[in-house]
Amino acid sequence: MKHFFTRKTDENEETGEIEELRNAVLESEMPEQVATIALKEVDRLFKTSPSSAEYTIGINYMDYMLSLPWNKVTDDDLDISRAETILNREHFGLDRIKERILEHLAVRVMKMSDRKRILVVDDEEMTCRNLEHVLEKEGYKVESVSNGSDALGRLDEIPYDLVITDLKMEKVDGMAILERVRKKCISTQVIVITGYATVKNATDAMSKGSYHFLAKPLKLDEVRNTVKKALRTGVSTHDTKSPVLCFAGPPGTGKTSLGMSIARSLKRKFIRISLAGIKDETEIRGHRRSYVGAMAGRIIQGLRRAESSNPVFMLDELDKIGREFKGDPAAALLEVLDPQQNSGFMDHYLDVPYDLSNVMFIATANVTSDIPAPLLDRLEVIHLSGYTMEEKIRIAFDYLIPRAIQDTGLSEVPPRFETESVQKMIKGYTREAGLRNLERNISSICRKIALKIVKSEKENASLTVTPETVEQFLGPEKYFFEVAQAKERSGFATGLALTGAGGEIMFVEATRMAGHNKLILTGSLGDVMKESAQAAMSYLRSHTENFGLPEMIFDGQDVHIHVPAGAIPKDGPSAGLTVAAALISLYTRRPCRRDVAMSGELTLSGRILPVGGIKEKILAAVEAGIKTVIFPGKNQGDLKAVSQEIMEKIEVRTADEITEIIDVILK
Ligand code: ADP
Repeated sequence: MKHFFTRKTDENEETGEIEELRNAVLESEMPEQVATIALKEVDRLFKTSPSSAEYTIGINYMDYMLSLPWNKVTDDDLDISRAETILNREHFGLDRIKERILEHLAVRVMKMSDRKRILVVDDEEMTCRNLEHVLEKEGYKVESVSNGSDALGRLDEIPYDLVITDLKMEKVDGMAILERVRKKCISTQVIVITGYATVKNATDAMSKGSYHFLAKPLKLDEVRNTVKKALRTGVSTHDTKSPVLCFAGPPGTGKTSLGMSIARSLKRKFIRISLAGIKDETEIRGHRRSYVGAMAGRIIQGLRRAESSNPVFMLDELDKIGREFKGDPAAALLEVLDPQQNSGFMDHYLDVPYDLSNVMFIATANVTSDIPAPLLDRLEVIHLSGYTMEEKIRIAFDYLIPRAIQDTGLSEVPPRFETESVQKMIKGYTREAGLRNLERNISSICRKIALKIVKSEKENASLTVTPETVEQFLGPEKYFFEVAQAKERSGFATGLALTGAGGEIMFVEATRMAGHNKLILTGSLGDVMKESAQAAMSYLRSHTENFGLPEMIFDGQDVHIHVPAGAIPKDGPSAGLTVAAALISLYTRRPCRRDVAMSGELTLSGRILPVGGIKEKILAAVEAGIKTVIFPGKNQGDLKAVSQEIMEKIEVRTADEITEIIDVILK
C-alpha cells in the first residue's frame, strides 16, 4: 500500500499507541482511499491530548475501522449440484422454491464464470504483450491495442470492466480515453500507465476519475494487485440488474434456514439482522462520530460480525420497519440493496465509503403488502405459505426430532416419538402455519427427558413419547379447534383471514337488541374492516326481499357485531362476506354451517370481490376441520397454486354473488 502519511515527526515523541495504530493501518487490507483517511485520523490523534474525550472517540473509531473486513472475502465455491444436495438435505418439500433458488444461484454462476474483460492500450508492443500475459494468467479476458483511436473504437463496441492505458500516446492520448470512458461507461474502471512518474500526471488522471496509476517500469505484483482491487471496486458490467431474493411467508416456514443453506452452498459466511421496529435511519446508517456512544449502523455491524465482505446477509422482517420511521426507510435500504449504489455505501460513523457490492443480500417478510413499493420493486419475491399436518409430521420426524435429540445430548438413548404424540403436539399445542412452536415443544420435551434421565441416573432407559407423556410434559392442551363439532347458533359465521402468522380462522358474531337503529362494532377493528361491516349491513337492509325478510325488521333495534379475539387488532376488506353471512343468519334465524368458512369482499349490491392469501387460508381451514370453503369467483386462478393433496381434503366453492352461495352457508 502507498504511504500517504506526510507529517514529519520525531520518533521519540510518538506514543506507542499511535505508532501501533499507524502500523496497523499500513498493514491492513483497507482500500487505499480509506487508508489515506485513516492515516489522517491517526495524524490528528497524535496532536490531540490523550485525556480528552475527542481522543477516546478517535481511538475507538480507529479500532473499529481496523476491525472491519474491508477487502477480506471468502472464495466463492458454487457447484450447483452440491447446492441442490444441500438444499434437499436440509429441507423437506418446497420443490418449487428450491428450484427458484437454484435458478437464482445459477445466474450467479454464469456471471461469475463470465470472465472480466480488460482492454490494454499502449504504443509499446512489449508492454502490451507483458500485460496480456500476466493478466490472462490471472483469469481475465485481455485485449490490447497499440493506439488511442483503436481504443476508442473498441470502447464503442464492447463493455469492458477495466481499461489500462498509457498516458502519453500520439494523437489520442490516455486522458482522452479516460474522458471517453467516464462519459460513456460509468461502471468501467481505468488505470493509467505513466512513463514519467510525475505526481502531476497521476493526480490529473485521478482527478478526472481514473482508479489509480501505474509507473513504468511496471512491477508485476503491483499490476496484479491494483487490477484486482480496481475490478472489485467497479460494479461489474454484467451484474447490475440482478434482483435481491426475498422470502415471504409466515414465521417458522423455513426462510432463515433456506438462507443458511444458500450460504453453505456458496461457502460464504451467514449473517442476519432484524429490521423489525427500526425507527431511525441512523440504525441502518450509523450515528455521526461526534459523541462517545456513537456507533456504526446495523449493516456495517453485521459485516464486522461476519468477518468478511461477501457474506450472505439476511435482512429479516423487511415489512416490519417501524411505522414511525424518521426519514425514508425505502431510500436508506435501496442504497444498501441496489448494486448500482452500494459499492460506495456511506455509513455516518465510518464516514468513508464501504463497498457492499460483494454482499449477497436476502430479505424476508411476513407479508409483502407492507414492504414499501420502491423496495419491493428491487426484490424477487418467493412465497412460502406454510405446511399441512402431514408435512409437519414428516419434517418433525426427519429434521426437528433428530436435531433436538442431538442438541440435548440424548443421542445415546434417543427417545422414540409416537406419530400420535407429534400429531397431538401440532393440534393441541400449536396454532401456526410454520414450525416454530412445534420445534420449541419438541426441544422442551427432549430437555425434560434429559433431566429425568440425569435425575434417575437410568442411563440406558430409552423413553417412548406417547400422547400421555406429551400432556405430562407440556401441560393440558392449549387449543381445541374442532370447529365442526361446535354448536350452531344463528348470527355466528366463520371467516378466513390472512395475518402475519399465515391463514387463520376468524369468527364473526352478530346480535340484536332493542335500541335506536345503531350499528355497534367491536373487536379492535381497523377502519377498512369497520367500513366493510357497515357495507354488509347496508347490503342486507337494502336487499331484504332476497332473504324473505320484512323491510321494517330493523326498526327500533341496535345491531352489535363483534369479532373475537377482541384485543387483537384486525383489518382488511376480506371479512365483508363473513359479516354479511352472520347478519343474514341473525335475521333469518338460520344458523350458519359450522364446517363452512369463507373469505371475500362484499359490495353494496352483493357482489363478491377477490381477496389475497387463498392458499394460506385453505391450509388454515383444513387444519381447523372445515369441510367447505367459499371464495370469490375471481380467485379461481389462485387455486392452481394449492396442491392436489390439500384440495382432496376440502371442498372449495367459488361465487360472484352472495345470493349464489347463501344456501351453502346457512342451514
Ligand atoms: P422462519 O425464518 O421462516 O421464521 P425458520 O427458518 O427459523 O423459519 O424455520 C423454523 C424451523 O423449522 C427451523 O428449525 C427450520 O430448520 C425448520 N424448517 C422449516 N421448514 C423446513 C423444511 N421444509 N424442512 C425441514 N425443516 C424445516
